[in-house]
Amino acid sequence: MPIHLLASEVAAKIAAGEVIERPASVAKELLENAIDAGADDIRVEIAQGGRSLVRISDNGCGIPAAEVELAFARHATSKLTSADDLYRVRTLGFRGEALASIASVSRLTLTTRAADESIGTQVRYEGGELLRREPFGRSGGTTIQVENLFYNTPARLKFLRSDPTEAGHIARLVTSYALAFPTIRFILEHNGRQVLRTLGTGQLHDCLIALFGLDVAEQMLALNAAAPEIGVTLDGYISSPALHRANRTDLILFVNSRWVQDSTLAFGICEGYRTLLPNGRYPMAIIKINLPPEEVDVNIHPTKREVRFRRGRELMGALQRAVRSQLMALHPVPAVNSSLESNEQWQRRQALLNAGSYTPTLGLNAALTGATNKSLLPQWQNPEPASERLPMLRVVGQIAQTYIIAEGPGGLYLIDQHAAAERIRFEELRTQQQQNGIAAQDLLDPLPLEFSPQQALLLEAHLSELPLFGLELIPFGGQTFLVKRIPVGLNSNEVRAALVEMLDTAQNQAQGFSWEEQALITLACHTAVRAGQSLALEEMRELVRRLEGSQLPHSCPHGRPTMVHMSRAQLDKEFARR
Ligand code: ADP
Ligand code: MG
Repeated sequence: MPIHLLASEVAAKIAAGEVIERPASVAKELLENAIDAGADDIRVEIAQGGRSLVRISDNGCGIPAAEVELAFARHATSKLTSADDLYRVRTLGFRGEALASIASVSRLTLTTRAADESIGTQVRYEGGELLRREPFGRSGGTTIQVENLFYNTPARLKFLRSDPTEAGHIARLVTSYALAFPTIRFILEHNGRQVLRTLGTGQLHDCLIALFGLDVAEQMLALNAAAPEIGVTLDGYISSPALHRANRTDLILFVNSRWVQDSTLAFGICEGYRTLLPNGRYPMAIIKINLPPEEVDVNIHPTKREVRFRRGRELMGALQRAVRSQLMALHPVPAVNSSLESNEQWQRRQALLNAGSYTPTLGLNAALTGATNKSLLPQWQNPEPASERLPMLRVVGQIAQTYIIAEGPGGLYLIDQHAAAERIRFEELRTQQQQNGIAAQDLLDPLPLEFSPQQALLLEAHLSELPLFGLELIPFGGQTFLVKRIPVGLNSNEVRAALVEMLDTAQNQAQGFSWEEQALITLACHTAVRAGQSLALEEMRELVRRLEGSQLPHSCPHGRPTMVHMSRAQLDKEFARR
């Protein structure tokens, strides 16, 4: 095919793909516009997870009649003029792309009236084409209604998840912005039902109550700190050690009022809690980081979800120290084992998380899923709080170099040697990590390893976190790295595979994945006894003894069972003794 310029509507769809991934992306851009417009009352209405409708109404400054169509042109913005402005932006938007992108992949109606004009305007776009424009009476502000998202890009449509999942993403988004802007009143409705509402009192604590409930809000500790050496102030709330979560979803960070995702900063917060939380549990935090705009590059990500700090390490350190000292000052006797949520609540939340819907409160869960129905429960395996220790087992032998046969008071046990070893290693590594760090050893001869360009970039990005896993690598030019230190028990010919797997999970981070935990699981897997390895009786006894001592002996960290059990009664039945 000869080189040719793409037709403008094709180019527009391609560009839209960058910014608009799902209904929550639409909601994000429209919310940001409403906030930039100075609104103090913002209503978000969605239907069917946002796929059939996302409508956002605000009472902001509105768009002057003469500029309405311009707002839909690509790179049309009222928020900056020169590239230098990028380092001074105080507005959430600046790329001038959102309206153009959204209009090109949906049916969009915009109704607006500028504060100082007597009559408003309504325009209708379909697939980026202006269909009609007419004067329209309304109060000052803007309503943008987006219907049938991706109707003209069916491939995109196929990537959407279930309605509750998509609605969950939007709920998380509105929750976060409501926390960032306590002076604004927010309402979110899904299929006509109110999902959340804040009052706009200006008090962050009021928002906490509105969004997470009184119980949680009461357990949040105020955090106010400054790190003048890097021009930073920190403001917000962190959970007391008695309140914790199964993942990092409720670590919410704002940088100059912009909601951002930053695994390094999240890690810094968790580090502040070191030894204060049960294994595998995470704090909640809502922290507003304020720093001079020139200290942060906000233009590194099409959806502006990630930012880059000039002094990221110092910032992470400041965050960690602030969290630590606040915990020490306000909570001298941490309660390690109690959890605010009852087991039942916790399991319900897990079930919902597994079903893919995120929501901050249980009331919200109900609103999004229609009902918190019990049928979700059985999907959920590996009930952490109700851990059941193993009885003492007597090893009898090994089958297929894969399974260990053992006898216990309850009958016959068949143990998968690899799954069991993985569970043991995982808990061991986690404990080491929380205490003195993962046991590791220097290689006499540093091991050169080469990676693909993409892997090399990822590796570079995570280089500083690898020592947490007992790994130390240094860049050796191009895509080559020198491995200097590896965890005890990791075979040097497994280092590469383990690293690649860890990087794969790092890539999944965007979906709120906890890469630290996944990385630990990977490491456990690569340092555990394999299937197909013949074991001496003594080695099997040792394995079983350590499994007896583990917290969750019944499943490996991937969730596979470590053993099957047949009771004496079942055996008797099989042999028709009864
Ligand atoms: P950006 O926000 O990056 O400037 P957008 O495509 O999101 O780009 O919006 C283009 C322009 O349309 C904005 O710069 C703003 O002037 C105007 N605009 C969009 N939404 C609103 C709104 N809700 N209220 C007032 N003006 C708006
Ligand atoms: Mg915008």
